[in-house]
This record gives sequence, structure tokens and C-alpha cells, in this order.
Amino acid sequence: MMQKGSPVRKSDLLASPGWLEHAFLPAGVLPPEETACGHQRHSATVVMSEAAFPRKQCEADGVIAIDSRPVAVYTADCLPVLIADTRQHHVAAVHAGLKGTLAGVLQQAVAKLLDSGATPQSLVVAIGPAIAPCCYELGEDMLGKITGNPLVSAPRWFSAQPHNERAVRPQAQATQHGSWFDLPELARQMLLAMDIPAAQIDVLPVCTWCSAEPQSSYRRNSHFSDGYALRYSWIQRRE
Ligand SMILES: [Zn+2]
Repeated sequence: MMQKGSPVRKSDLLASPGWLEHAFLPAGVLPPEETACGHQRHSATVVMSEAAFPRKQCEADGVIAIDSRPVAVYTADCLPVLIADTRQHHVAAVHAGLKGTLAGVLQQAVAKLLDSGATPQSLVVAIGPAIAPCCYELGEDMLGKITGNPLVSAPRWFSAQPHNERAVRPQAQATQHGSWFDLPELARQMLLAMDIPAAQIDVLPVCTWCSAEPQSSYRRNSHFSDGYALRYSWIQRRE
């Protein structure tokens, strides 16, 4: 299923601490065997790794490890968010689509890390490949729900579709006279609102629709039929 040459992507920010490993895998590639991962429901539920191993045995959209078990999330167009606490050497993987983000899954994950000894300044966060504003059209009704959400301060969207110069295939076509919503920026703003420094938040510039491998986007595959496979993103504290 993996396309020849499909890259494993990494965040420079998460690559620098020597005590951890991470990867944003291409579509269809599985994480390490011993990885903990919840059965994702677009909820704000975040659990410890013991509860999510064997994989998908509990419902959760975020998993935290305080030991060396890898934790992962699987995504299509939603945001895979990997978090490392440089103070306690705890790690978290969070599945944050629009629904889960608005439900507060990032706040839950950060709160749990703070409870176990992190500070906002000790957290480093990487937001992996997801649908970007170049290809994510939302209608007025959904934009209204976003604006009315108490966790949201200044959501960003564009009335004209942004051009993505990194696109390797045509961007999404407008279907509903809507606006082009910036989901990664929504997550970034929420992390900033939790006092995580801007320099410690990395957003990978890869859109699952137009600039990742062709099986990445569930949304795109509902219009074309290239096939579709989940993308795993994982993070692990080394022994
Ligand atoms: Zn795009």
C-alpha cells in the first residue's frame, strides 16, 4: 500500500531532544508493534498508555506515556499532534480533527501533562500532516459553530481559496461557496492560549489533500478513488 518513496516525516523540534523518537508515517504504514493507541471517536478523552494497549481496546483520542511504550494516533485529514514534556520526559499523541479540537482534546492532553509535572514552557508540540486551508472548505453553518465555541478566540479562514505552492496534485475544488478553514492554525492558537511558547510549536507544511501521498486524504478519496489508508503518527520516550 505504501507508495515508493513516500516519506516518513519528522518535526525538527521533536528531533532535537535526544530522549525521544517520533515519526509521522505515510499512509498505510503501521507503527511499532508495542504501540498504544485508542479507538478514536473524535472525543476529548485522553488516557494513559496502559489503557490503550493492546491497540484500540478503549475509546480515546489522546494517549500519554510516562514510560517507554510508544503512543500513536491514526488520522486522515485530522491533525496528528505529538507532544513531548522535556521536564518529565512524558509524551502524548493526540487525534485532533475539527470536532475533537472543538471538544477540547488538546486542552485535556495538556492538562494531564501539567498534572504530572510539566509546565507550559517545558512542552514541545508538533502538528503533523493534515488538511490545510488550501483544500478545506467549510460552509457558513460550520463556521458559525466554530466562532461560537468558547475555546476558540480568533479562528482563521479565507474567503478566496489559498494557493498551495507545495501542491503535487490539484487542490480541492470549491463545492459549497464556503470559506477555506485553517485547522492547524486553530490548534496552534489553542496551544498558545495554554501558554506554550510559539517557538515550541511546529506545524508541518503538508496538506493531506494536495501535497501528501495520494492515499492520505479521506476527504479527497470521497471525490477521487486513489484508495485511502490511515496515517499513523507516533512518539516514544527512549529507554
Ligand atoms: Zn491542500
